[in-house]
Amino acid sequence: MPPCDEDKLQHEDCQHDKLHEECGVFGVYCTDPKKNAATLVYYGLFSLQHRGQESAGIAAVQTAGSSGEKQAQAIECRKGMGLVGEVFNGEVLSQLKGSAAVGHVRYSTSGSSCVENAQPFVSHFKLGSIAVAHNGTLTNADVVRELLEDAGVGFTSSSDSEVIINLIAKNYKKGLEKALTDTIKFIKGSYALVVLTGSALVGARDPNGIRPLCLGKLDGKDASHNWILASESCAIDAVGGKFVRDIEPGEVVIITEDNVLSFTFSEKTRRAVCSFEYVYFARPDSIIDKVDVYGSRIRAGGILGRESAVKADLVIGVPDSGVPAAIGYGRATGTPFGLGIVKSKYVGRTFIAPNQILREKAVSVKHNVIESEVKNKRVVIIDDSIVRGTTSRRLVSILRAAGAREVHIRICSPPVRFPCYFGIDTPHRKDLISNMNSVDELCASLGADSLAFISVEGLLESINPGEAANNPERSTEAHKAGYCLGCFTGEYPIPVAGEPSA
Ligand code: SF4
Repeated sequence: MPPCDEDKLQHEDCQHDKLHEECGVFGVYCTDPKKNAATLVYYGLFSLQHRGQESAGIAAVQTAGSSGEKQAQAIECRKGMGLVGEVFNGEVLSQLKGSAAVGHVRYSTSGSSCVENAQPFVSHFKLGSIAVAHNGTLTNADVVRELLEDAGVGFTSSSDSEVIINLIAKNYKKGLEKALTDTIKFIKGSYALVVLTGSALVGARDPNGIRPLCLGKLDGKDASHNWILASESCAIDAVGGKFVRDIEPGEVVIITEDNVLSFTFSEKTRRAVCSFEYVYFARPDSIIDKVDVYGSRIRAGGILGRESAVKADLVIGVPDSGVPAAIGYGRATGTPFGLGIVKSKYVGRTFIAPNQILREKAVSVKHNVIESEVKNKRVVIIDDSIVRGTTSRRLVSILRAAGAREVHIRICSPPVRFPCYFGIDTPHRKDLISNMNSVDELCASLGADSLAFISVEGLLESINPGEAANNPERSTEAHKAGYCLGCFTGEYPIPVAGEPSA
């Protein structure tokens, strides 16, 4: 039975109290014909599942080199709604043969949640086939789409990512390299792309490097070279590969049978990596732009301890990303760390709270308190962010119900006051609780004894401690070069209509 509107509201209420990463991408190119690229992509996507749980897809091709044939075969694609494990089973995977493949997991922000918008997108045209998987959001998608439609190009989805594949296909007669540079020069916004053709795997990152993309290598026993492109290094680890390096902002990498070609397509690159990747989106076992995500979360907790310590008997983290920060806070302040909250791993995007009565309890299904750990204690609870405030309010309530004497909230991101335009699902400005309330008002509304957020400077220090130590006199303005802080400061690295630029 389809969920009723009320159920949908409950589901959204529960799920939309976090910012959501839009997508994860993964690509493999093997010159070792014994390797099945689609299977490797399947395992890679499992490790990127946290970046998108609405749909999953894999496109594969037998490259000309590994098949020994001059003519590359057409790209085959399978995709569907749901988690990687729901979309793919042994039978579906066995239909995807080939030595090169790209895959995608999606959480929709631009374009609605339906299979037409699932990726990779595949285009078959006179000169061949290409598949594209995109993480990010194009800020000029509407304009480019209109131009393409005026030129007679048809679209099958409402996703901005389809603009990219249609542009590449339109320019393909100029050759792959030129088609890519012409396409990339035309599009604006954030993108980490993996592109598959009959003879190459391509990776590209926007000139600000807002969304992550890295290169890895799989060892071959012979002279074969097997390459990986992935949103996060944890996915390279998952398939037994070795992290090689990050793709640089404004860089294109073309991997073929013969070599790996790299070039910078943009003269003006200014690194502005999404700072929220370190706070929440990325997996803690990933390294993004040379920064170990787990380490940055531990440091964020330590900085929170330095900036806003409170006397307490216990510090706990909201799983998963609040836990390393709670460890860091405990180390910095001497507060004992404990596991006071347990999270159900199985409350996913398909979760539907059953009825009105349970609405306020929805977060209890997702999070539960270990009463024996928190009873009669002054508790500090650390979370990665506050978006609408629903989760924090309910956590305070269930901690008090379990006997906590005091509940102090510490947040390891600055207040989220502004929307994201670069691939992250954020509510309207009016629904961002920190945009509408002062910290004191918010604290009262959550029912907490105290509330504090890490400062913008503290967040930057947690990501890049060396920079802070080496340049203590540097202004925040100079220090924040290198990271996007748009949703905290309202200053964006790319011009957005109606918003100031950083
Ligand atoms: S606005 Fe926020 S979430 Fe969006 S890219 Fe910038 S830091 Fe990340």
